[in-house]
Amino acid sequence: MAKEAFVDQDMCIACGICVQNLPDVFRFDDSGKAECFDPYGATEDEIQQEAIDVCPVSCICWK
Ligand code: SF4
Repeated sequence: MAKEAFVDQDMCIACGICVQNLPDVFRFDDSGKAECFDPYGATEDEIQQEAIDVCPVSCICWK
């Protein structure tokens, strides 16, 4: 089964890196925090390298 990324919004500081790097996967929700709205909008490698690895507070993980 494919992995799905998940944002811990309690930790997200809304820096925008994940949204900017992978706009087909992450977006800001109404609370102003990032959410993963399409876990299959990019490859697992892209999500790992362009979001999980570069999130400054390490609040994106695989569920
Ligand atoms: S990179 Fe991390 S802190 Fe920045 S918006 Fe995305 S989830 Fe939030």
